[in-house]
Amino acid sequence: MNIKNKVIAITGGASGLGYAMAERLGEQGAVLALMDKSAATLDEAISKLAVQGINAHGFPLDVADKHSVTKAFADIADRLGPIDGCVNNAGITDDALLLKVKDGVVAKRMSLDAWQRVIDVNLTGVFLCGREAAGQMVESGKGGVIVNISSISRAGNMGQTNYAAAKAGVHALTVTWAKELAKYSIRTATVAPGFIDTPMTATMRPDMYEKIAGSVPLKRLGEADNIAQCVAFIVENDYFTGRIIECDGGLRM
Ligand code: NAP
Repeated sequence: MNIKNKVIAITGGASGLGYAMAERLGEQGAVLALMDKSAATLDEAISKLAVQGINAHGFPLDVADKHSVTKAFADIADRLGPIDGCVNNAGITDDALLLKVKDGVVAKRMSLDAWQRVIDVNLTGVFLCGREAAGQMVESGKGGVIVNISSISRAGNMGQTNYAAAKAGVHALTVTWAKELAKYSIRTATVAPGFIDTPMTATMRPDMYEKIAGSVPLKRLGEADNIAQCVAFIVENDYFTGRIIECDGGLRM
């Protein structure tokens, strides 16, 4: 797909990796529908992108809320026309061990709330937004591309029962959609980032940050644009579907 003048939606597009994707796809001429939780953060991101000559529009939503998602995607179609691409990027963490044990006694457990919050945003959110995006692509008759953002943690990671399960699910639904939607000329693929410098990783304790950076074969965290490059590759490459790009500096969980 030639990115120029294509309408591409990015969830979580006002911050971190989503913002870097907006910069890269916007520089290549995409018309961007940035979707994020906070209208104020969206306005700020769109003003910054406008300075770079990037054509971006804001659509506040909660990816975990069916009505909010339906409305936001309908608003995009009304204002910009049916979408050609959708990057399901919005995500959160809420880490905890399944069980915290002290002297053989369970002192704490991952709460059902923490489990549900992360599943709702990181997995149900991808399902809801992907379903709306695919619907528009089918009905426009143009097809399109859906890129889902998973994580290196999909292989299982200490303290991330909820996040790892959601991110493994994200790749499973990508492969399923690639099989179901190919007949409508819709491709779907996954990018699985390793540890990347964004506001999400900025909340790590400095000692944890150093430990993780030291464990990466390249000895540093990735930059947001490294992931944006993977997304742009998938959007442009018309023979890439149902597969995953792992961009993690060589780190294995
Ligand atoms: P980020 O900087 O925290 O950005 C995530 C964006 O998503 C924020 O703008 C956030 O808004 C928004 N968001 C959160 N919940 C939402 C909801 N319910 N509805 C709409 N928007 C919502 O995170 P990031 O590091 O760029 O991560 C982007 C994606 O990459 C996530 O899926 C993450 O799991 C994945 N990932 C990141 C890394 C990494 O090292 N950074 C590694 C692997 C995978 P608020 O800030 O207002 O909450």
